[in-house]
Amino acid sequence: MTGDSELLLYLLVGGPALFVLFLLFLMGPIGWFVAAFLGIAAMVIRSLSGTDTDSPSTRNCPACGAPNEPARERCNYCDEPI
Ligand SMILES: [Zn+2]
Repeated sequence: MTGDSELLLYLLVGGPALFVLFLLFLMGPIGWFVAAFLGIAAMVIRSLSGTDTDSPSTRNCPACGAPNEPARERCNYCDEPI
């Protein structure tokens, strides 16, 4: 059932976004540039949020901040206990 709510979210966000893109395309070359920029920005934000959900698979060392596997008891880099 998560797929249905996800689709609804895409429609709620995507509907107005498509309308804004349509208005931008009516504006001419400047609008096309802005529309392309917004499209790239949206893709960058999506890829960034995707890596954020992956980050809990590592745990940062409290002493040096280096990413370590959660199973490790000591830091891979500075050997401090995590
Ligand atoms: Zn460390």
